[in-house]
Amino acid sequence: MTEGPDPEDLAMRKMRFLFALRSRGVTDARVLTAMEKVDRGLFVKGIFAARAYEDMPLPIACGQTISQPSVVGLMTQALNVGPRDTVLEIGTGSGYQAAILAQLARRVYTVDRWRRLTREAAALFRQLGLVNVTTITADGSFGLPDQAPFDRIIVTAAAEDPPGPLLQQLKPGGIMVLPVGQSDAVQHLIKVTRSEKGFDYEELRQVRFVPLVEGLGNE
Ligand code: SAH
Repeated sequence: MTEGPDPEDLAMRKMRFLFALRSRGVTDARVLTAMEKVDRGLFVKGIFAARAYEDMPLPIACGQTISQPSVVGLMTQALNVGPRDTVLEIGTGSGYQAAILAQLARRVYTVDRWRRLTREAAALFRQLGLVNVTTITADGSFGLPDQAPFDRIIVTAAAEDPPGPLLQQLKPGGIMVLPVGQSDAVQHLIKVTRSEKGFDYEELRQVRFVPLVEGLGNE
């Protein structure tokens, strides 16, 4: 057992964490409350855990990253999740984003191509009593046809274009938030709103995400 950080120090770091979120544009009270409840420290392992309350992406297993908290906050805010919504997340990673969505939605399905990541995230969801999250190992580019349609879809890995199956699995009135662009270039976070007539696209900001990759990982 290693000694944890001083509790007072931890409280201070969490306060600064919330302050940083606000100052970077995360102002939705429900999103801030959800992010206050979910301890990012649980989703970051080893030497990086000490930096869990800093506003930066950090490495996780399988060569992936847990996103920067302010980006998690801005994406969650743009998704405008309601308590009756069913949400699909592509890119479970550490499970942090899904745990926040679980505070706001009725049900969350989260998909990753690495079995190791979905297994570890599912263990954390159990530990936290998040019974409304279902974790699935699959290539998320195809969505989840059996559970579709979804009120909200969030993709946390960058594709060159919004994957067709995900657009099809979005309910009319639904919102999808995702980064688009090549992995080594500037990507844009976009918000897609489906109406009865078609799709509206809004560009939110520049971001940098790991790429959406085909097929399953080997771990
Ligand atoms: N939302 C995560 C961060 C995700 S990093 C968090 O809160 O920690 C992006 C994740 O997308 C990685 O774990 C990667 O394995 C996953 N990913 C990439 N391509 C994918 C695909 N086709 N299907 C499912 N997951 C994919």
